[in-house]
Amino acid sequence: MSNLKILWNPWRFEYVKSTTKSDSNCIFCKLPNKSDEESYIVYRGKYSYIALNAYPYNSGHLMIIPYKHVACFDNLNNNELFELIVLTKASTILLRETFNPDGFNIGLNIGRAAGAGVADHIHIHVVPRWIGDTNFMAIIASTKTLPVALSETYSILKNNVDKLINVINKTLLESDSFDQ
Ligand SMILES: [Zn+2]
Repeated sequence: MSNLKILWNPWRFEYVKSTTKSDSNCIFCKLPNKSDEESYIVYRGKYSYIALNAYPYNSGHLMIIPYKHVACFDNLNNNELFELIVLTKASTILLRETFNPDGFNIGLNIGRAAGAGVADHIHIHVVPRWIGDTNFMAIIASTKTLPVALSETYSILKNNVDKLINVINKTLLESDSFDQ
């Protein structure tokens, strides 16, 4: 009896439906409608795009974001999931070859309880890390120079975008399961 109660839950059905359509109030649904430069979009894939975070945890902080307005992995199909991780891989290689970081933090916050700033639209963070950068961030966080640094970071990454595209094409060519 209690199982039936859980299954029959119209409220949950409404929630699942609402996660798949684009939302005019959602920043990650709106970003692709603007130019690459305005949105800091580094690359547009078939199902997801890569953009610089305008509020970075560190210089070069990239996000991989599906075009679909989904809160979690549940509503992404295999091709969308596969491209998401390929773009994540390509992002680490682009950042490594461009800025030579010592490491990365890569992750997702699913839900507001987990700290997601935009909880309704899934996005993977790729944050390059340098030894000692914690102190460096503490210094620059209190200055007004970050917007300039952001557009400079964007130009440098855009100039190196061939490295990213090469990795994506090579990975997709090697895969026989990806439906291009
Ligand atoms: Zn969205």
